[in-house]
Amino acid sequence: MTTTYSIAGDCLRCGACSTLAPGIIAMGETIAVVVRQPATAQEIAATEAALFNCPMLAIRKRTAPVQEALR
Ligand code: SF4
Repeated sequence: MTTTYSIAGDCLRCGACSTLAPGIIAMGETIAVVVRQPATAQEIAATEAALFNCPMLAIRKRTAPVQEALR
């Protein structure tokens, strides 16, 4: 399974997420942006904390199965 985080357009740009997950989420010009996907357990925990604390529920998490290699 691969998990991808993204920010939806209803972001208030409050800055909570970039404080909780620096280096993963940053403030863009109009909304927060995911600058790279978290890779370590610590980064995933920080991103999850940002997701949990977002007042607008604007941080989206998508989990998809890893595609099987073509036979
Ligand atoms: S915590 Fe939510 S509302 Fe605040 S800047 Fe991040 S994505 Fe936007």
